[in-house]
Amino acid sequence: MGRGQRNIVAVVESKTWRDEGWSHAGDPQELRATFARFGGPVADWLGAVDQVGVWGLFRHPVAARWQDGRSALVGDAAHPTLPFIAQGAVMAIEDAWILAACLDAEAQQPRALARYQALRAPRCTRIVEAANANARNYHLRGPARAVAHAGLRAISRFAPTAMIERFAWLYDYDPVAAV
Ligand SMILES: Cc1cc2nc3c(=O)[nH]c(=O)nc-3n(C[C@H](O)[C@H](O)[C@H](O)COP(=O)(O)OP(=O)(O)OC[C@H]3O[C@@H](n4cnc5c(N)ncnc54)[C@H](O)[C@@H]3O)c2cc1C
Repeated sequence: MGRGQRNIVAVVESKTWRDEGWSHAGDPQELRATFARFGGPVADWLGAVDQVGVWGLFRHPVAARWQDGRSALVGDAAHPTLPFIAQGAVMAIEDAWILAACLDAEAQQPRALARYQALRAPRCTRIVEAANANARNYHLRGPARAVAHAGLRAISRFAPTAMIERFAWLYDYDPVAAV
């Protein structure tokens, strides 16, 4: 992206989208119409959009097997995730660190790769499941949404640190100490 350019990622629910792939062209007018109710500067930003790429967000299971003793998967190849907890790239970086640390610590490569998967799979599975849960929570409708928002307002008023403490398992993790 050049200076002064802006990349906008917008998520909309669709019951009809089926195609996987990254290179489907979208329609700027449709984008503007879909997000017409947004306030603030968004309408101006969308007004300037001349190119739209569209892709689907899909749930996929975490791979059952990440390695065969000679090679190993890291990142999305092993555990593709929905983006609703902002951890996909984080997991890929953690994978890379732990893979390197396992290879460094174990003389025998098959043992190192097996240990890498054993250390990473439970955490990545938990993160992918948390992203799936957020996908549901972020897209509640009707009374369920009103109840959830009232609950969030109450929590942030009476126990402001509760939400972040709920995710201590996620944010307090230390990959350097894990191996
Ligand atoms: C909308 C959205 C928002 C996100 N927000 C966040 C966020 O806030 N925080 C976060 O941590 N993560 C976020 N992610 C997730 C993050 O982008 C991915 O999890 C991360 O990029 C995965 O890295 P990777 O290296 O495993 O895979 P990729 O980044 O997909 O890299 C794989 C590379 O391999 C290349 N490739 C594929 N096939 C071949 C081939 N046959 N030969 C050679 N090269 C090939 C591809 O072109 C690509 O460059 C988001 C994702 C999306 C979609």
